Amino acid sequence: MDLTKLTLSEALAGLKAKKFSATELTQSHIKRIEASKHLNAFITETPDLALSSAENSDNRIARGEMLPLDGIPLAIKDLFCTQGIKTTAGSHILGNFVPHYESTVTSNLWKAGGIMLGKTSMDEFAMGSSNLTSAFGPVINPWHVEGNDKKYVPGGSSGGSCAAIAGDLALGATATDTGGSIRQPASFCGIVGIKPTYGRCSRWGIVAFASSLDQAGPVTKTVEDAALMLEVMAGHDPKDATSVNRPVPHYSKSIGQSIQGLKVGIPKEYRVDGMNKEVAALWDKGIEWLKESGAEIVDVSLPHTKYALPTYYIIAPAEASSNLARYDGIRFGHRSSSAQSLDDLYELTRSEGFGNEVKRRILIGTYALSAGYYEAYYIKAQKVRRLITQDFEEAFKKVDVMLTPTVPSAAFAIGEEPKDPISMYMMDVLTVTLNLAGLPGISIPAGINNEGLPLGLQLISPAFEEERLFKVGAVIEKAADFSKQIEKLRKAS
Ligand code: GLN
Repeated sequence: MDLTKLTLSEALAGLKAKKFSATELTQSHIKRIEASKHLNAFITETPDLALSSAENSDNRIARGEMLPLDGIPLAIKDLFCTQGIKTTAGSHILGNFVPHYESTVTSNLWKAGGIMLGKTSMDEFAMGSSNLTSAFGPVINPWHVEGNDKKYVPGGSSGGSCAAIAGDLALGATATDTGGSIRQPASFCGIVGIKPTYGRCSRWGIVAFASSLDQAGPVTKTVEDAALMLEVMAGHDPKDATSVNRPVPHYSKSIGQSIQGLKVGIPKEYRVDGMNKEVAALWDKGIEWLKESGAEIVDVSLPHTKYALPTYYIIAPAEASSNLARYDGIRFGHRSSSAQSLDDLYELTRSEGFGNEVKRRILIGTYALSAGYYEAYYIKAQKVRRLITQDFEEAFKKVDVMLTPTVPSAAFAIGEEPKDPISMYMMDVLTVTLNLAGLPGISIPAGINNEGLPLGLQLISPAFEEERLFKVGAVIEKAADFSKQIEKLRKAS
């Protein structure tokens, strides 16, 4: 049996029944990582640490003291600080930064028995939709198109984590989402990714991009696996003032529940210009699946949707320019060796350490916050953000969840990416609204386009109603029968 083909929940059941050990499970994944170097999914691998953690898991399991995620090999986005292990945020500016503390989310995973396989690549400081901005080279999507030898992007910014799951290198991975970075790469890689409500997971120890938008979440092979991981990752943390003190539900209990009578909203403004025909057709299919399962479909309107991208691309860079001011070459990370004065040191360190996309964001953000433009851009964007949130509040008076596609298109080939930054930003058009409103959203692999690349559907719920996303997500997952579609595809090719 190839243990890397299991889902997280199947692996838990197998470990519990002592069909295999955590050490065997971990070894299989380490081998698979070794054989998959061409994907470039990891920046740092930690096989020795993984094997010693697996031994601890095996001892606990033998004593009958198995923890909720005991023995499960996981990949960690390199934005999460990990004690004693290099953390790069996909950037050269952090140099050989080794945190002396552990992020709350990863520490929750280790306390639950999870095993770290390594740190995954990502767009630099989580800015991007392709993983092409990583300082450690592009990550390759494990999906490819029969008949051509092009390499496809995994999406971003959590591209390494998503490629690791799609390529069977780990059973679950952590990711973060500021404007779509969990859901968009999950869609491109044919896996599940959930961005929880803002405040559900602690941001403590996660390198900050845009603090009012950033949120951590899991990426996994199935909806149930995502529920199992979020149960452990979520929770109140006094070290993060924006983390919310509410009990964490047993998300996995939502799987398999009926959606009879549930009201599903279809926001008409999400039929955006440039939406791929196959994506639009998949959306219609998703509507049919939910109807057949007893849900009621209701048209809703989110009138301020068209302002979401410009609003996001003011607020996110503004917060980023402030958060990234700390990388000055003095306290940690890279320091230019050719500086002659203090000003030189700042300038050279930052010019050498940051990549182009990060520099672009810092420039936009600094401009939007500068005297004279602050009211015209930043304050205005905050007001529009409020209107976008109100749109959702109004719509959720009529419906329980909403269904939309995750991204207007499938993954693109490396070298065929949109060349101007604005077209790249369009990748986020269906996802950023949720970050602006603080709402949770899940991407479910639901279809395959005629080239053979995966497409995702997104479900949105009111704040702290993630259970609905798991419940409805499991229905879509079952109806789409995605794994069967993959098998069919493999046979046909
Ligand atoms: N692609 C978006 C951006 O570049 C979102 C990134 C993210 O969610 N971290 O900002």
